[in-house]
Amino acid sequence: AAASESSGVASYHQVLDQQSLRRLQLGTELEQAMADGHISVVFQPIIDARTSDIVSVETLVRWAHPRFGAIPPDDFIHLAEQIGRIGPLTDHVLDLALARCRRWLDQDIALSVAVNLSARCLAEPDLVERVQRALRRHGVPGELLILELTEGSVVDDSVRSSNVLTDLHALGLRLSMDDFGTGYSSLSQLRQLPIDEVKIDKSFVLGMSTSQGESFIARSIIELAHNLGLRVVAEGVEDELTRKLLTEMGCDKLQGFLVSRPLADDVLEKWLLARTG
Ligand code: C2E
Ligand code: CA
Ligand code: CA
Ligand code: CA
Repeated sequence: AAASESSGVASYHQVLDQQSLRRLQLGTELEQAMADGHISVVFQPIIDARTSDIVSVETLVRWAHPRFGAIPPDDFIHLAEQIGRIGPLTDHVLDLALARCRRWLDQDIALSVAVNLSARCLAEPDLVERVQRALRRHGVPGELLILELTEGSVVDDSVRSSNVLTDLHALGLRLSMDDFGTGYSSLSQLRQLPIDEVKIDKSFVLGMSTSQGESFIARSIIELAHNLGLRVVAEGVEDELTRKLLTEMGCDKLQGFLVSRPLADDVLEKWLLARTG
């Protein structure tokens, strides 16, 4: 009995060790991966619901690992947060996004670019300065940058965050509340913080064409946000019916596979050209 017990323990530790080893390895490799150009970004178009004009793109990070293959962001963002490297990763993504934005500007395309901002980043005392320096370095006006905040980011330390958000807002950029409707939604925060827009989480949008409950949630969020003077983006729009429903509800902007998958920058440029004729 003792032998089988200990072997059970051993295999449990083995699984644990494999996971933590891989995590440890990824953690130590993150910095080098950025330097080697293995961490890149793709851009997903966001359109005006009424006119279908492209209004912005969301920057989504990608890791092409030489041995593990494509690692999805959900597998390494959290890790970067835990090992205290989310700051450098965010700077890297911001840099890639603003460099592209500058190139579009040079081609007379004034396209806003959205970058995701993790909870941890709001607690970094030099965040505002780093964002300001990045904008200056690339010569991109703050008005063309959107920072998407996960709801968790705002709840953690609302007093402190509130100052950071005000300072960021003062740079001219727009703040978007990501994944709205999940986690600790606080309606009062929407009123108290300098938020410009909310993004309805895709978990609600994905079910809209089949479930009245999801449609009701989307409608409620749109109504609430509009009453507070905020714009609304729906993410995860995959089918025509959902697009129609959201547009009828007055949703301002749409993002999802129906419009476009996230695109590499050269593919995006072709996509833009094809749409604008
Ligand atoms: P998110 O910010 O909610 O981004 C939207 C995710 O939904 C993206 O996944 C996107 O590819 C996916 N998506 C877009 N349209 C559709 C659709 O129509 N249907 C479905 N089913 N999915 C759709 P992705 O690229 O895997 O990113 C996952 C998450 O990783 C993001 O969720 C975001 O929270 C995080 N993330 C990505 N890039 C960054 C980054 O640079 N910094 C930080 N802090 N987080 C990032
Ligand atoms: Ca986002
Ligand atoms: Ca989201
Ligand atoms: Ca999400």
